[in-house]
Amino acid sequence: MKNRRLSKPIEKMLPHYDVVVIGSGYGGSITASRLSRAGQKVCLLEKGKEYLTGEFPDTQTEAATNMQFNLNNKRIGSKSALYDFWVDDDINVFKGCGLGGTSLVNANVSIRPEKWVFKEKTFPKILQDESENSQSDLEEGYRLAYQMLKPNPYPENFPPLKKMEAHQKGLLHRAFSVFVVNPYGEIMLQRRALTKYHSPGLWTNTCCSHQRAGEETRDAAHRRMKEEMGIDCPMSAAFEFTYRAEFDNGLVEHEYDHVLIGEYNGVAIPNPEEVEEWAFVSISEIEEGINKHPEKYTEWFKIAFPKVKEYLS
Ligand SMILES: Cc1cc2nc3c(=O)[nH]c(=O)nc-3n(C[C@H](O)[C@H](O)[C@H](O)COP(=O)(O)OP(=O)(O)OC[C@H]3O[C@@H](n4cnc5c(N)ncnc54)[C@H](O)[C@@H]3O)c2cc1C
Repeated sequence: MKNRRLSKPIEKMLPHYDVVVIGSGYGGSITASRLSRAGQKVCLLEKGKEYLTGEFPDTQTEAATNMQFNLNNKRIGSKSALYDFWVDDDINVFKGCGLGGTSLVNANVSIRPEKWVFKEKTFPKILQDESENSQSDLEEGYRLAYQMLKPNPYPENFPPLKKMEAHQKGLLHRAFSVFVVNPYGEIMLQRRALTKYHSPGLWTNTCCSHQRAGEETRDAAHRRMKEEMGIDCPMSAAFEFTYRAEFDNGLVEHEYDHVLIGEYNGVAIPNPEEVEEWAFVSISEIEEGINKHPEKYTEWFKIAFPKVKEYLS
């Protein structure tokens, strides 16, 4: 399953629009959206590329080839490269270039700054004064942002998250991995949602998770398949293996992993909070994918896949 591309090439531009908006960042895209909803015929021009999920550079090498440098009288790299550096005598600027603007490369943090931040002399006096005034436009801005984003931190008086603790300490724990196979010998893979706390956006086996306390592995696998992929199917236990992998975010997976093979030949209706996309993929295509782009697959999948291949043959 592929995501739909939003952008169209410049050749498809019509001869007339009511409004032309330049740039698709926060500013441009919201302006274009509002004008369009108000009945205007809007053209939004973006000089960077559109990145569908899976196309975004996710290794240092890929990032390096997606940079552009604008130096005083010189430029290096493609004009549409994602990471856009401007180096000047008095100020240096880094921004994103692509459909979505700098949000493509920013930290995605939305928090209220500490009070002392606005005390910095570099801020204009008007902002310093605003930060002192509880009725200010700034306060109203925070209120609206909170209302829209609805941030909801994990309450401090709640019990510590056992799953997080296990992953922080690298404790060995039980897990299971389901590999669903169709009659053509293709394996149903999923690409993990971008919001997952580890290995986001990576391709992996059909479904994997942890057994609840006292829960049989098979019951857990059926439960999780429904929750994650929206399907259920006959499954049989295949083998177990242990693996340990450290992730960039400091978490450690150290699992005793039960592998189950499922049989199914239909579509999945995945939960978008868990799964970005899915596909039935042949053994040879998976092998080629792992060889060419190992960084696009989860650690446990790369360990388990050759064992599953051997088991199925
Ligand atoms: C490293 C970094 C981290 C950040 N972290 C955060 C954060 O955590 N939270 C937060 O709220 N903000 C953060 N920001 C700031 C936030 O990303 C910017 O404030 C926001 O993206 C600005 O939106 P914009 O619409 O003004 O411009 P941009 O998002 O920069 O969009 C401008 C767009 O216009 C396009 N464009 C420019 N010229 C042309 C042209 N001539 N023709 C066609 N297209 C053109 C560009 O390619 C770009 O896509 C961060 C910024 C950076 C650099």
